[in-house]
Amino acid sequence: MRPPGGCESDEAAPLWKRELAEAFTRAPALLAYLGLDSASLARDIDTARDFPMLVPRSFADAMRRGDPADPLLRQVLPLKSERKRVAGYARDPVDDTAARRAPGLLQKYAGRALLMPTGACAVHCRYCFRRHYPYADSGPRGKRLDDVLQTLADAVDINEVILSGGDPLMLDDSALAELTSRLAQIAHLRRLRLHTRLPVVLPSRVTASLCRTFAECRLRPVVVIHANHPAELGPATRAALARLRACGTVLFNQSVLLRGVNDDAAVLAALAEALFEAGVVNYYLHQLDRVEGAAHFEVPDDRALTLMAELRARLPGYLVPRLVREEPGAPSKTPLL
Ligand code: SF4
Repeated sequence: MRPPGGCESDEAAPLWKRELAEAFTRAPALLAYLGLDSASLARDIDTARDFPMLVPRSFADAMRRGDPADPLLRQVLPLKSERKRVAGYARDPVDDTAARRAPGLLQKYAGRALLMPTGACAVHCRYCFRRHYPYADSGPRGKRLDDVLQTLADAVDINEVILSGGDPLMLDDSALAELTSRLAQIAHLRRLRLHTRLPVVLPSRVTASLCRTFAECRLRPVVVIHANHPAELGPATRAALARLRACGTVLFNQSVLLRGVNDDAAVLAALAEALFEAGVVNYYLHQLDRVEGAAHFEVPDDRALTLMAELRARLPGYLVPRLVREEPGAPSKTPLL
């Protein structure tokens, strides 16, 4: 994962870029902003720079002040426990390397291909399964992008392109519009899916120009957001999601089940209700991908299944997400039953 590049702070830059330029990159500054004493937490906080902290203020504003166990803070605060090597945890836990069809292009499942136009994100989630991904290979441009688009044009069995990363909404509106337009020229493609956390952590990214790109695109836009806790769906995020819905985008959510964040039936039920209110289908609840550095987030399968039973008892079936795990080489996500 690379920190975002080229985030101008001049007045001419769009609001979301100016906000991103002011994101927290040092734990003491974030902790002071939250009214927490960083000296008392210094023993646990990691200052290594290989997967540096990155937290937009809009996301920090949704955290509880004065609470070191805040579930949003826990997702982004680098801890020394990430350095612990744990058996079964790997640098590429879902075997992205084996799924590579071209630089920046992966195919794991029938009919879909995943294009990684950038390695940058607006937030660095400590449990990210791509935290060690070699992003130098992503972000195809120029001749490499031509090659990737030709690969897609030749693959007539693919009808859906997934833009992932990194976070595809880290591209400028103009770059995204151009990429979208080139993809729309491939006749056998029908849907354009984006996996993004930006409407949640930096809602100002959902600009009028982005919505125009989606509204005018021949491909049906599908946006899969990533929210793990109901506190992530504040007024600005709900407004951003409403803008996306208004331009014809179909919205889904995928969450990761995380110890100390959302491993609680009441929290998961509140998240399901908040997503429904925001017009988002509560689609997947992922078991953690066992990536090096994230073992302290793992929720055992038996606990996950108990939580699902509690959710089914509390919610109508259409609000209950599918509990799944990604298994390398499997033809789809694997449901946990
Ligand atoms: S989980 Fe998504 S938003 Fe978070 S660091 Fe990974 S790719 Fe970026």
